[in-house]
Amino acid sequence: MSDIRVRFAPSPTGPLHIGGVRTALYNFLFARQSKGRFILRIEDTDQKRFVPGAEEYILESLSWAGLEIDEGPVQGGPYGPYRQSERKDIYKRYSDQLLKDGHAYLAFDTPEELEAMRERMRKEGNPSPQYNAITRQYMKNSLTLPADEVEKKLAAGEPYVIRIKMPRNEEIKVHDLIRGWVSFQSNQLDDKVLVKADGLPTYHLANVVDDHLMKISHVIRGEEWLPSTPLHVLLYRYLGWEGSMPAFAHLPLILRPDGKGKLSKRDGDRLGIPVYPITWKDPKSGEESMGFREKGFFPEAFINMLAFLGWNPGSDQEIFSLDELIKAFSIERIGKAGARFDIEKARWFNQQFLKRTDDAVLASMLRPYLEKEGVEADGEYLIQVCRLMKERATFIPDIYTDGKYFFGPVESYDEKIVAKKWNEAVKPFFMALRQKLTDLDPFNKEEIEKAVKSEMELKGMKFGQVLPVFRVMLCGTVAGPPIFEVAELLGKEEVLKRMDRFMERYA
Ligand code: GLU
Repeated sequence: MSDIRVRFAPSPTGPLHIGGVRTALYNFLFARQSKGRFILRIEDTDQKRFVPGAEEYILESLSWAGLEIDEGPVQGGPYGPYRQSERKDIYKRYSDQLLKDGHAYLAFDTPEELEAMRERMRKEGNPSPQYNAITRQYMKNSLTLPADEVEKKLAAGEPYVIRIKMPRNEEIKVHDLIRGWVSFQSNQLDDKVLVKADGLPTYHLANVVDDHLMKISHVIRGEEWLPSTPLHVLLYRYLGWEGSMPAFAHLPLILRPDGKGKLSKRDGDRLGIPVYPITWKDPKSGEESMGFREKGFFPEAFINMLAFLGWNPGSDQEIFSLDELIKAFSIERIGKAGARFDIEKARWFNQQFLKRTDDAVLASMLRPYLEKEGVEADGEYLIQVCRLMKERATFIPDIYTDGKYFFGPVESYDEKIVAKKWNEAVKPFFMALRQKLTDLDPFNKEEIEKAVKSEMELKGMKFGQVLPVFRVMLCGTVAGPPIFEVAELLGKEEVLKRMDRFMERYA
């Protein structure tokens, strides 16, 4: 085992967006590739935003996607607990240290006082007022109040938060494995709250403390966290851990298909695109958002598609199994620019995986859909239908919906083809063909093809005159797998029945 340790650290505030799954995927690939550990940490210190069921949803999504967790709330591990709400005492030690060393302070301001400060600053022409090195001087905190008054407030149980004391005029440099050096000015940053009035740490403190204690070597996360990173760097410094700080890699955004902004749930709804790995049912509204799994995507196709949203292998290869991704993945090949989500490409990936799936496996996957439709089919027959249909299907149910004629009589005929191709010249051909097929033995694709061809020669007809009609007779449509194979699978009796039915109807 190497020292590489990475974590996926979602907050259980709702379903996982596909961007979150991609973050998990890149962490997973990196861990597996370097024989390191992939850790799941549940960041649930914001109790107001906690959503019941979200943690279970996250676990189920990762498991569906095949991203196996090495250490986590369910798996356990040497650095647990892995749920932040169970680590409250740990954080207190470090916020105490920051207070003692003068890098943090207590702030007693009420929400009204904070709002009044913001209002005043807005009036003075500052559109985005902050609690910072300037404003803190006018607020109620342990830097401005006399020590005895602070003591009195604490004794009286007055609520307070702990804020970082952001330094003045400092340049904070962050090294990012994807973006190189990124520099920030401390004057642009505010005195972020580190511990809330309920005594629980905010994301920033808990995240840094846990990454350190859990010996995280690389922080691979979404781009939206880049602006928080200078604050994290300062926390590592103030806690004396700068020397062992993890490396950072901030992943590009996943954009809408038109490239205009981040792909949101609303865009997904509008465009009919899933944005969640598996279906999410909102516990409050009961509203359901369809997931990739429920849309019929293979987890392997979903993962392959996600891997390419922000990374490329540097070759023409597009189809990768999870194992191949583990081998090919590298942080250096992650792009800086946002990656456009393309549902057509996602469907294409699914099609590729469906095509590569064993016929018998496809049959077993199709079975539940057939049962729902009340359709019965023999096991071996179903396997053969899957073999013929898989070249054309994008999703498993397509095998049934596009190939209904395999499971019952033709429901409707392509009238355009009938009008164009069914005429007095071809009628005798099919009468004769019917006769030939009656005597055919064995009734297989080679023999059927031979019979059709010899009859064509005899009557001086071309493929274009007879094959579309033959297809429509047997399937109702001209689209579908090779017709001689279809005929073989349907069997002699059924083929003759369908020919008769057609010829009677259009006599
Ligand atoms: N809890 C944060 C989130 O929900 C984690 C960000 C990080 O990986 O540092 O995305």
